[in-house]
Amino acid sequence: MTILVLNSGSSSVKYRLFEMNGEKCLAWGVVERIGANGALLIHQRHDGDQVKLAGEIADHQSAIEYILAILLSPNHGVIADRQEIKAVGHRVVHGGEKFSGSIIIDAEVMSQLHDCIELAPLHNPANIKGIQACKAAMKGVPQVAVFDTAFHHDMPDYAYMYGLPYILYKKYAVRRYGFHGTSHRYVADRAANLMGKPIGELKLVTCHLGNGCSSAAVNRGVSVDTTMGFTPVEGLLMGTRTGDLDVAALLYLMGREEIGLTEANSLINKHSGLQGISGVSNDMREIEAEALSGHHRALLALNMFCYRVKKYIGAYAAAMGGLDGIVFTGGIGENSAIVRQKSTEGLEFLGVSLDVAKNQVLSKDERFVDTGSRVRIMVIPTNEELVIARDTLLLVG
Ligand code: ADP
Repeated sequence: MTILVLNSGSSSVKYRLFEMNGEKCLAWGVVERIGANGALLIHQRHDGDQVKLAGEIADHQSAIEYILAILLSPNHGVIADRQEIKAVGHRVVHGGEKFSGSIIIDAEVMSQLHDCIELAPLHNPANIKGIQACKAAMKGVPQVAVFDTAFHHDMPDYAYMYGLPYILYKKYAVRRYGFHGTSHRYVADRAANLMGKPIGELKLVTCHLGNGCSSAAVNRGVSVDTTMGFTPVEGLLMGTRTGDLDVAALLYLMGREEIGLTEANSLINKHSGLQGISGVSNDMREIEAEALSGHHRALLALNMFCYRVKKYIGAYAAAMGGLDGIVFTGGIGENSAIVRQKSTEGLEFLGVSLDVAKNQVLSKDERFVDTGSRVRIMVIPTNEELVIARDTLLLVG
């Protein structure tokens, strides 16, 4: 069965087309700058063929039409008829308290997705636009929603509640939700496979370190805590987001700098994190290079980043009452040896011991980078799109 996976953002749509028989990715790409000058489709086929097309791509509807056209194109395409696409899986950022797993989108689900907009005003509207565009372009083809929040749905209440008046939770559903759930779920499963043990016997900390970063405590296959909260700002230090912050410090700064809600939101989301601390970049490769050449603030940013990853590994070992494995994934987790080293050093008392030489090896494979220590340290490339395709197949198959 051929399944299209879509990740619709406010100005971009990423796509992957899978043949699920053999789980082969036939083609992938992205439409960028939707609605702006210089809109572009970048498309790659499994055999290495690549193409970039500039075009007038005014909205998500025309982005989907461009994607379908390139998938069908005689020169660059991989299918002969759009009816070959039997289902579409959509990444949806926020499923609120309602969605504990992936679901086929019908009218009722669509209305519930609209209800979740309040919780993710920056993300869910774009996800919904992508779904609506596909419904119009591929009439009758089942659409499935796969939520970033769903894997964390079963966190215990004492982990997801904030210390705010309970009435505000009841009124506005302000609580911790967590994100990156598809990635945490995927790498936890792969880690169990790599360790050769049932996931139901394992206590894992999964660290998804990319532009956005979060860790999760995965106890016997269930996410029991995670670092992101009501929004993806909480927790680890990120490219441009603060991570954990005393909320009163923000209130203080709003007063001193005389800034309003919009600027405060931009401060904690776009001007903080690695970028804000270092003044160099939000990109870990540049932070590492500058830190190594003695740039004080770049080194501080790197140290803060790794310290928080380590702190949460310890916290989650306590939360789960033990630890069997630590997983690194995402652009930084998969590629940065120094981040993995700094984030695990000093944890020998927990049974964690990194093999410095193994850790240095660059590879795209799933692998152990420990010394054979009691707690295994693993690098596992994430594959959120494949999880979305599998969930879609399971629901429509
Ligand atoms: P996103 O969260 O947008 O999917 P990625 O998972 O691709 O992002 O991660 C992007 C981050 O990965 C950037 O900070 C980038 O610097 C970092 N990264 C990619 N390659 C390396 C590398 N070789 N060494 C260190 N960091 C890297």
